[in-house]
Amino acid sequence: VDRLAAKIKKICPPQPLNIMEVCGSHTQSFFRFGLDKILPSNLRLIAGPGCPVCVSSAGYIDAAVSLARKKDVMVLTFGDMLRIPGNKTSLEQERARSGNVRVVYSALESLEAARANPDKKVVFLAVGFETTAPTVALSILAAKKLGLENLSFLTALKLIPPAMEYLAADKQLKVHGFLCPGHVSAIIGTRPYEPIVRKRKITCCVAGFEPVDILEGIYMILRRIVSNDPAVDNQYSRVVKRPGNIEARNFMRRVFAVSKAEWRGLGVIPASGQKIRKEFARFDAEKVFSVSADARGVSPQQKKCRCGDVLKGLIEPPECPLFAAACSPQKPIGPCMVSSEGACNAYFKYRNVGTV
Ligand code: SF4
Repeated sequence: VDRLAAKIKKICPPQPLNIMEVCGSHTQSFFRFGLDKILPSNLRLIAGPGCPVCVSSAGYIDAAVSLARKKDVMVLTFGDMLRIPGNKTSLEQERARSGNVRVVYSALESLEAARANPDKKVVFLAVGFETTAPTVALSILAAKKLGLENLSFLTALKLIPPAMEYLAADKQLKVHGFLCPGHVSAIIGTRPYEPIVRKRKITCCVAGFEPVDILEGIYMILRRIVSNDPAVDNQYSRVVKRPGNIEARNFMRRVFAVSKAEWRGLGVIPASGQKIRKEFARFDAEKVFSVSADARGVSPQQKKCRCGDVLKGLIEPPECPLFAAACSPQKPIGPCMVSSEGACNAYFKYRNVGTV
């Protein structure tokens, strides 16, 4: 770490530089290990929209809550989703009220839940990036094979490269380099970043999650900036290969079609989501229950949340007037405070702002 920090200091140009990571695990590692304290002061690592919980829209939570209120429905979710505020309530509050919400650790658990509860309509909340989507696709294929009639999936699956392209195009932001997510890249490989390099002339470097991985990734980006030679680099080559995981991507392609998606705080980004294909419509909870997981306006309290500006790196979490006052990990107002991978939560926890 010391050697890499010294190399970074030596090579870093004097002008302000923004490197954006697009991965919740990077955000957490960065704050947890205090890496910002050893980087040059003109070099900012921005925690971009890399936490799936943080970018789940309030409309999606509202739709999930409306399903959990139905007597014959059982909603299955990852634990992180429980505390995300919808416009009126959260799944955690709904769980206490109706008992219809259960926490699972994998999409595949939904198959067992559907088989064990034939009197219930089981709905899995399928949220995540390219890392999670293959397991959801596999679960849908398995549900079809098993002939499960009482299982469906409420999807809010998102694709990372279109969000990066959207942010790269934002002139207000000025991203000089992307530290690309290791987990997502294990699935998609490194090719999807090449158009960003070609079009935006911004280096994309895939990096692992240890402090040395992150620092080496930053060093590799700086080297490209200094030599004015943007490219796709792969610091995490022990895991990520250029073609990615072809089998996992084939599962996704069979089950999902690319669609627009709403990213909380950022808005609707074209071709950045995955919806269940028509041939699997009987497993699509939006169709089965005639609900929409799209945005339906934002409550006045949600309007005060500045997660969008945090995710874009326009402000630091403490610059939000609600930070550590009305909004804390115990009582989150915005999704960036909910998950341990959210920038506000990580800042609160590792900067000793309060007791978690
Ligand atoms: Fe949103 Fe809370 Fe972060 Fe403010 S501190 S941006 S309200 S999550």
